[in-house]
Amino acid sequence: MMSDSPSASAMHVPAFLHSPRPALAADRVIDVLADIWGIAGAPQDVGGDRDQNLVVTSADDTRYLVKIAQAGEAPGVLDLQLATLLHIAEQAPELPVPRVIRTRGGACTHALPADGGGEHILRVFSYLPGRPILDTAHPPRLMHAIGQLLARVDCALQGFFHPHAGHAMLWDPRQAPAVRACTADIADDGRRRTIEDVIDAFCSDVLPQLDGLPAQIIHGDATAENVLVGGDPPGVAGLIDFGDVLHAPRAIELAVAMVDTTWGLDDPWPTACELAAGYDEVLALTDDEVAVLYDIARVRLAACAAIMATRERHRAEGAGSMAALVEPGWRQLNALNALGPRAAHEQLRRALRLPVGRGTSVPATASLLERRQQALMPGLELFYPDDPVHVERGSGAWLFDSAGERYLDCYNNVPQVGHAHPHVNRAVARQTATLNTHTRYVFSSIIEYAEALAARLPGDLGVALFVNSGSEAIDLAWQIARHYTGHDGALVTAHAYHGNTEAGAALSPYSQPAAHVAGLSVATEHDAPPPGSDPDEAIAGLAAAGHRPAAFFVDPSLSSDGILDPAPGHLAHVSKRVRAAGGLCIADEVQSGFGRMGTWWGFEARGFTPDIVTMGKPMANGYPMGAVLTTPDIITPFADNTDYFSTFGGNPVACMAGLAVLDVIEREHLRARAEQVGARLRAELRALQSRHPMIGEVRGLGLFIGVAIVDPDAGGAPTSARHIALALRQRGVLVGLEGPHKNVLKIRPPLLFTHEHADLLVAHLDAALAELTASHRA
Ligand code: PMP
Repeated sequence: MMSDSPSASAMHVPAFLHSPRPALAADRVIDVLADIWGIAGAPQDVGGDRDQNLVVTSADDTRYLVKIAQAGEAPGVLDLQLATLLHIAEQAPELPVPRVIRTRGGACTHALPADGGGEHILRVFSYLPGRPILDTAHPPRLMHAIGQLLARVDCALQGFFHPHAGHAMLWDPRQAPAVRACTADIADDGRRRTIEDVIDAFCSDVLPQLDGLPAQIIHGDATAENVLVGGDPPGVAGLIDFGDVLHAPRAIELAVAMVDTTWGLDDPWPTACELAAGYDEVLALTDDEVAVLYDIARVRLAACAAIMATRERHRAEGAGSMAALVEPGWRQLNALNALGPRAAHEQLRRALRLPVGRGTSVPATASLLERRQQALMPGLELFYPDDPVHVERGSGAWLFDSAGERYLDCYNNVPQVGHAHPHVNRAVARQTATLNTHTRYVFSSIIEYAEALAARLPGDLGVALFVNSGSEAIDLAWQIARHYTGHDGALVTAHAYHGNTEAGAALSPYSQPAAHVAGLSVATEHDAPPPGSDPDEAIAGLAAAGHRPAAFFVDPSLSSDGILDPAPGHLAHVSKRVRAAGGLCIADEVQSGFGRMGTWWGFEARGFTPDIVTMGKPMANGYPMGAVLTTPDIITPFADNTDYFSTFGGNPVACMAGLAVLDVIEREHLRARAEQVGARLRAELRALQSRHPMIGEVRGLGLFIGVAIVDPDAGGAPTSARHIALALRQRGVLVGLEGPHKNVLKIRPPLLFTHEHADLLVAHLDAALAELTASHRA
């Protein structure tokens, strides 16, 4: 709109109010254009706030905008405007902004002596057709396009620097403290107080935050007059008037546009949010930027009201009036005030599809639980059913609930390398922003990832098939094993869980084992071999029912069996006997893989080598992905006889996530960390046994630890384990329950778990057990 030094003393009667815009005679302009620019045509005055603006149509129907600056206009500021447009023309020539038209001698300006002394600087620009958005409706599509254009202009200006870009500009919301003096010119007491309240709150609460936001040279004045629209239905046709260009937080660029393009609308915010969504699509906003947009928008309105009051009061003859803007601006400020910050943030975050959270009212947990019960399968299991955790976000080893409480996540192996790991996030986000499709195309990441997995597996386990979950991997492994062996029986551990497909469930005594599946009790380190632990007996049992073993499936962490430590050599022995009976050995690494047990794979830690490996859960840190790896020999009959394909399995985004997870495991030495932190944690848990007889065996490897709870005198073991887990949850520590009797505390944190995290867990467990023991006694 206009520039001026906003020093507090000059503020009350700003200098610009004294300077009417120039009024050069038409014939003088005609002569200069012809002589200096070689443009012939009659100028037509098109108004303007500070410059004299003329449109000239040449003989070939080309239109130009001639801008004649006031005598005394700071030359640095004029140069800033020109340099900005030249930079955009170079960086993003496709953008619809005015082009600088050079003189015949190649200059960008020409000076003419002014009548009262000094000189007027003339500049010529291409003329952009279109009408101001002020005169049109504001359909969402148009607002979105305006937001996109503005962001593209800001993108083009990101690398631009100019020594005058730091100049103070009255209309810049950061000048609110100086503009505050202008409120004295607002006649109506009620209005004045409202406007002062908005300015004061902004100055104390918001202004200090702005310095930390992304800043650059911006247009700074995307008003309803400066955004041009054209066509039918209306599309965005251009952005004009680079007279307020300055270095400022980008949030100001956007907030000014959100207010000034919706000036006077009765319900401006939803329309403004559309513009923000368009901007965000091109130039992503940070949470901090989003958080200040509503406040900047309101202070822009309040400051404009104050400046306009002063300006009307002191307006010099010839200076343009802004009276027509006063009432619409006031209406708009009232609309935003009535909406309030909470609703405004919610609307904005919804328009940007930002996760529910900061600045929004999260639906109450109780009402969500009710809706969950209706919307999802009834009885669908919840973690801590007695007191479910309403999660909002995660970071590293921590989870945060909707009330902002934090929890040490000692349970979660989906975010294997930590919640919201930045390297994995960026890999996913960048690939999503580039390409995601199915796997019938040639692309490199799927091959690179398959090779990376093969390089970390022994022998010739080098052929990969990608799927989307652990269950799918198990299902596929089962099909492959049956094809290869021609058999249809399976051995699994006694309480195994291998998935939710028909085959996965059939292979899971944990849920509903099938007739062709023999359950095998695992001989552990601690006890004499239990009945049913002899694989030959199990194979004979299958044979008696008419089945020969196609495969032995085993989760090396023996998770659902209660996190058991098999006797050394036991799993190798079972594998050997199954192979002797013509079956394959399948390591289900959905739980134990990717460094969990201190080695890449659980089978390495347990001393056997499988024929097929299934993977899932942790492999992409939460991005859905599963895989089967096997040998060329085993896959051949399956490849020859099926037309297997998975649309999403191994898609480019999943593979990038998988590669990034491997990077993090290696760069952050997470296998070694799992081994070291896990070993010390187990020792400390065992040390608790002397004080807490409820602690039975402490089992597991790496960061997969089971603490069996025994409760010989009261209540029954399962109840105690559940009480301990709940007491820990109330203390901000999350652990799971595992085993056929659900009496084993399952400790399986993200692998970036440190000794400090482990100490915290031990201290809370110690305290929770002491409390429970005391309450049992009472
Ligand atoms: N195998 C094992 C050992 C598992 O623990 C699970 C899931 N808990 C699965 C397979 C199935 O994985 P998903 O839930 O991803 O299908």
